[in-house]
Amino acid sequence: MSTLEIRDLHVAVEDKEILRGVDLTVRSGETHALMGPNGSGKSTLAYAIAGHPKYTVTSGTVTLDGEDVLSLGVDERARAGLFLAMQYPVEVPGVSVSNFLRSAVTAVRGEAPKLRLFTKELKEGMDALSIDASFAQRNLNEGFSGGEKKRHEILQLELLKPKIAILDETDSGLDVDALRVVSEGVNRFRSSGETGVLLITHYTRILRYVKPDFVHVFAGGRIVEEGGPELADKLESEGYERYTKASA
Ligand code: ADP
Ligand code: MG
Ligand code: MG
Repeated sequence: MSTLEIRDLHVAVEDKEILRGVDLTVRSGETHALMGPNGSGKSTLAYAIAGHPKYTVTSGTVTLDGEDVLSLGVDERARAGLFLAMQYPVEVPGVSVSNFLRSAVTAVRGEAPKLRLFTKELKEGMDALSIDASFAQRNLNEGFSGGEKKRHEILQLELLKPKIAILDETDSGLDVDALRVVSEGVNRFRSSGETGVLLITHYTRILRYVKPDFVHVFAGGRIVEEGGPELADKLESEGYERYTKASA
């Protein structure tokens, strides 16, 4: 049982306040959807929790099972059990997907997995996500299509088994088939009941496949409304306009 607790979080980027008091608690076994218009600060929340140097926490707290996440280094956050699927993953020439994943698993588990076991785990994960075997030997993120990037994120989830996963725009740029595969991956991952998922998205369509327990509407750098899955249906029919008017 794990709990990520965000309390009155304020974050600035280049001296401009973007997050203005975010309160959110995500427990293992729960799926939360954080939804909001473009520019509302959703990615800023994800980057701040991940420890991106451009995002300065000016006040508030983030804890994982009581431990102060904000005082941990980026690698330590991963080791503590936090996972952030990067919205714009970087290309790393000369590093294969397989090598990258083995290093990531080693960093998180604290010891290198036996090569044979890792190869088996990797193959199972790739099969489950309908990823071709040749993908493991490709250079990390080099020329990845939108669908390949997202499948790679979910593959990381399956291998790293974080306590809390923050998925930022996992659904953007996916065609319907890829969306289904990725959603099934998220559902498989959360079905263990041992992990909490914060699904950040602008669109409601992924929520047809991944049913959230809680929906939070984000506008102007804070949560402005909260509810159950029915709130996503309301957003789908009404859009964000009334929130953006209210927070402007
Ligand atoms: P969302 O993910 O909801 O679309 P973002 O968190 O990306 O919103 O952006 C929120 C605001 O913060 C925007 O006004 C954006 O221009 C600004 N911002 C975010 N990241 C940066 C950055 N790295 N440098 C400058 N401004 C940024
Ligand atoms: Mg405040
Ligand atoms: Mg974003």
